[in-house]
Amino acid sequence: MVVQPSELEITAEGRLRISWSDDQVREYAIRELRDNCPCATCREKRSAPPAPALSLPVLTPQEAAPLRITAMDPVGHYAYGIHFSDGHDTGIFTLESLREMGEEVSP
Ligand SMILES: [Zn+2]
Repeated sequence: MVVQPSELEITAEGRLRISWSDDQVREYAIRELRDNCPCATCREKRSAPPAPALSLPVLTPQEAAPLRITAMDPVGHYAYGIHFSDGHDTGIFTLESLREMGEEVSP
């Protein structure tokens, strides 16, 4: 049997909480999801060599603002497309990968 989300919500702390059909409840930091975005662009970025030591990264206003999820759309029965408040929305998170991220919390 494939485990499916039975409930999606954003907690008061701004974390994503997913209740699963097997009664497991997991919470996710939005930043963790964004950093693990499975789209090709983000995978490429993560595998790129680290920036030179003296670079000064300048955050755009979107990057500096707290990251939020603006929408989550089911993709078939196996994944969710997550839209982030920084405008990034090409990541398709499989249910399998979501079960491996975040942390289990008591319901
Ligand atoms: Zn991405």
